Amino acid sequence: MFSKASAKRWDVEAVESATHPLRIPFNKPCLVGKELTYIADAILGGHASGDGAYTQKCHAFLERLLGVPKVLLTTSCTHALEMAALLLDIQPGDEVIVPSFTFVSTVNAFVLRGAQPVFADVRPDTLNIDETQLERLITSRTKAIVVVHYAGVGCEMDAIMEIAHRCGVAVVEDNAHGLFGGYKGKPLGTFGCLATQSFHETKNIQCGEGGALIINDPQFIERAEIIREKGTNRNRFFRGLVDKYTWVDIGSSYLPSDILAAFLYAQLEAWEQIQAKRRYIFEYYAEHLHDWARERHVRLPIVPEHCQQAYHMFYLLLPSLKQRQALIAHLKARGILSVFHYQPLHLSEMGLRFGGKPGDCPVTEDVSDRLLRLPFYNELTDAELSRIVAAIREFHGE
Ligand SMILES: *Cc1c(COP(=O)(O)O)cnc(C)c1O
Repeated sequence: MFSKASAKRWDVEAVESATHPLRIPFNKPCLVGKELTYIADAILGGHASGDGAYTQKCHAFLERLLGVPKVLLTTSCTHALEMAALLLDIQPGDEVIVPSFTFVSTVNAFVLRGAQPVFADVRPDTLNIDETQLERLITSRTKAIVVVHYAGVGCEMDAIMEIAHRCGVAVVEDNAHGLFGGYKGKPLGTFGCLATQSFHETKNIQCGEGGALIINDPQFIERAEIIREKGTNRNRFFRGLVDKYTWVDIGSSYLPSDILAAFLYAQLEAWEQIQAKRRYIFEYYAEHLHDWARERHVRLPIVPEHCQQAYHMFYLLLPSLKQRQALIAHLKARGILSVFHYQPLHLSEMGLRFGGKPGDCPVTEDVSDRLLRLPFYNELTDAELSRIVAAIREFHGE
């Protein structure tokens, strides 16, 4: 996330896939059919600002799918996380526990309110927050635990919710990877009092940039609507619940245009088709790389029996940083873009300022050097998958 190489990644990909038609990029945002029709409809319908007809359709769809009391579309998952920090009334000096192995927004949203981040390590199997460390990290100042269902595989929610309840700490799920996933049959995003989704173009369902706040604890609904509408009670005014629309709380502009909601709704309607394709890609990699991985001491994703994964990504854990870099180069030479992932947040420039030290999160430090993500997007063809697998199997290490 923070190296020069990855900052440039998208430019490089754009140029390379434009000049080499046979290149396989890491990600291609997909269109499933009705996006342009719905976008035109949103524009021509005369309500292109937020909370129009398509936004309502997306809200209803997600509320039904997840079985939750309220969903609010936001401009991004980052903004949904910022709303969560505002709703939990995070104050300077409050502590918030986050995994070190995640995207910056998971922590930044809380740091913006003055929180002190407390970095937890991840489990070596799922790379999710290590629930066995939480008790040790909770203090009288801890306000929240933010969990990330990495690669769309659920965290150990039974243990996490039990500890959180016992200690009176809120749980927020950063569910950017986990839409359509489940833990013991219950949808990811429905465990914490609040959860967040991303519809960024790198996620399973996308509208370019977008997100959602999932509200599982109804006590947050009214204030969430106000915070999302610039701190005004505009939403209640439109519903005829108050006769004046006025400034009632702090807030910002967190609602997306209905044009983006139209884009998103077309994708949500096709969710089963999208998920079926992603499952196919995951299983293709898992099946065709199984023997190679065992011989080469490469670890493939681990999905515990009780987790229904969301098929967000397929990663390899190479035996060493050197081998990981060598495989990236090996694939690149064959026109295939594979990429690493999160660098430990506790060792980032900001993380160090918050007191992070090498050795704090040994599993995160280890896996971030060895993890590589394979191309994973809906338009991947069998011919491309077979080329990728063949190229990997030709890799015999350093
Ligand atoms: C993508 C992602 C985000 C940020 O999502 P945006 O919609 O781009 O703000 C946050 N957390 C995780 C774990 C992500 O993967």
